[in-house]
Amino acid sequence: MIRTQPKGGGWLEVVCGPMFSGKSEELIRRLRRAEIAGQRALVVKPVIDDRYDVGHVVSHAGAKMRAVTATTPSEVQRLAQGYDAVGIDEVQFFDEGIIDAIDELVRRGARVVAAGLAQDFRGLPFGSMPTLLCVAEFVDKLEAVCHRCGGPATMTQRLVDGSPAPFEGETIQVGALDSYEARCRACFEPGEDASRVLPVTLIHSGRV
Ligand code: ADP
Ligand code: MG
Ligand code: ZN
Repeated sequence: MIRTQPKGGGWLEVVCGPMFSGKSEELIRRLRRAEIAGQRALVVKPVIDDRYDVGHVVSHAGAKMRAVTATTPSEVQRLAQGYDAVGIDEVQFFDEGIIDAIDELVRRGARVVAAGLAQDFRGLPFGSMPTLLCVAEFVDKLEAVCHRCGGPATMTQRLVDGSPAPFEGETIQVGALDSYEARCRACFEPGEDASRVLPVTLIHSGRV
């Protein structure tokens, strides 16, 4: 991955993967390097759960970088004015206005690194991620280690009291006592009711 600041315009890099796959670590790594290169770098994250270190992006392994929080895509746009490199962590939590906000930043010459979950706990595409993955110049899909078998994990398992969360649950549950595990496709357990509404293509067609 040899990447330098574009000469005549910005670009979008998307880093996706399940929980624990190292998205935040990778975001921090890229933005640190931009800083080392003398660029003005900023990390933004959504205000989803402000109980935990609002002023930083923190990885599961403890890597840390200062960050500002935003509630809306237009706030992201406003905060990012004047920066050469803009990292957005947990980008799937912003509403779909984030697509245009990122587009505007890229058009005016910024390098945007957007990190987020490509799939929700059901294994379905998460928020604006499908579009961002399509329009990005660079895409990296990271793997975690499967909590069950140690293989490469591409999915996020939500557990409630140790059992797979019901398929109908809210996609975003802040402060819930649920726990999450990285799982490979073979070890992933869809929640109850999933068999009734699968296949995924049917869900996306809006017919169910
Ligand atoms: P993400 O932002 O994708 O959730 P983080 O960057 O916060 O991931 O954390 C990645 C780190 O989490 C890894 O470097 C590793 O130290 C730790 N980790 C804990 N559990 C796992 C797992 N199951 N697979 C991979 N890394 C894990
Ligand atoms: Mg993260
Ligand atoms: Zn597995």
